[in-house]
Amino acid sequence: MPRFKIETWGCQMNEYDSQKMVGLLKKNGFTQTESEEDAEIFILNTCSVREKAVHKIHSRVGVLKKRYGNRKIVGVCGCVASHEGRELLEKIPSLKFVLGTRSIHLITEAVNRALNGAKFLDTNDHTNEMDAPITFAERVGQTKAYVSIIEGCDNFCTYCVVPFTRGHEHSRPFSVILDEVRNAVETKGIHEIELLGQNVNSYNYEGKCFADVLQAVSEQPDVQRVRFLTSHPKDFNENLVRVIAAHDNVCPTIHLPMQSGSDRILKKMGRQYSRIDYLRKIEMVREILPECWLSSDFIVGFPGEDEKDFMDTMNVIQSVKYDNLFSFKYSPRPRTAALKLKDDPVPDSIASSRLSILQHAQEQIQLNKHLQMINHVYPVLVESFSKKNPKRLTGRTEGNHVVHFEAGRAEQLIGSIVDVRIESVTMASLKARLV
Ligand code: SF4
Repeated sequence: MPRFKIETWGCQMNEYDSQKMVGLLKKNGFTQTESEEDAEIFILNTCSVREKAVHKIHSRVGVLKKRYGNRKIVGVCGCVASHEGRELLEKIPSLKFVLGTRSIHLITEAVNRALNGAKFLDTNDHTNEMDAPITFAERVGQTKAYVSIIEGCDNFCTYCVVPFTRGHEHSRPFSVILDEVRNAVETKGIHEIELLGQNVNSYNYEGKCFADVLQAVSEQPDVQRVRFLTSHPKDFNENLVRVIAAHDNVCPTIHLPMQSGSDRILKKMGRQYSRIDYLRKIEMVREILPECWLSSDFIVGFPGEDEKDFMDTMNVIQSVKYDNLFSFKYSPRPRTAALKLKDDPVPDSIASSRLSILQHAQEQIQLNKHLQMINHVYPVLVESFSKKNPKRLTGRTEGNHVVHFEAGRAEQLIGSIVDVRIESVTMASLKARLV
């Protein structure tokens, strides 16, 4: 059977979509390969959150065309496919199929048509398909199972392309989510579940909210760890934090994207909370969960951001002291409301310098936090052998820190939770030994 190679850009939701496509293709007799030479079919599962990511995908298609001419089948799925649709097929005649984020269940049909010389395009909103249980996602070699609970977004933050690529919010049935969790645990032997959604806090299915989902998932037999991504600060509430506090297997790890510390910019971003609302939620989290791990996203260089706005952001970073941060320069995206703002764009050199100030400050904060972990013992879910040193194992703490530790070739530890003592640290990772 033909061999395919799948290349994935972007967030966990895209990774999960790729696992679903791999599962479907394998079920239909196709073989996955990591080798570019061997592959007859290339599936590029794409991200369009930043302009740079979109350029990378266009250039990857160009490279494949140059290297292999028409000898390989290349198709684009995911956010760029949803966003550009037919235009993409017209702009890049060598492409054989384009599948939007809500059409990936059609991957086998798309590939089969391409093998027969026909092109295939589907960017329709197959919302009903999202309610079907996903038991076919490829979980081989995984120690964590993604389970999506809500897809799409209705928030329309002014800088964000996601509502245009992932569609309107749709909460998946409560019972289907629990079936998928049980399937991952019982048939795949996976004990860590990561619940996914563009905004998990908006979950609403027949009166059930996200706190109900989290509680029910954490109470399933043999679920040893539960995480979730992502929470919108406006909907993040005490009820949810109390569920985390009441369940030892829910990681006290909260990703709460703030985006800017300036009220003026938050308003222009359409984020629907103020700086003080956000900081009060952080206080509430730390009161109920003193041992929690916090992370966030920030954008610098949003149109109209001045020095004072940036200093407001820096003040938040210095006062909250996040355990991890994801920071980016503002990237204008087609169809978003921010394109219509009258404010002056921030020159790229200023945005770059702000980004580097922010990242440098965060590196120091992170390193200091890691230094405080030395000599303490943490449970780690062992994920794999270290890529750099195959005698070492790599795992993650509840706080999502990457930990490397010596364990010979103790393959049997992969997938289990072990205690390690931290011995040395860098800004990015921790070194430990088994206790
Ligand atoms: S909440 Fe805002 S930033 Fe997050 S996906 Fe929705 S529109 Fe984008």
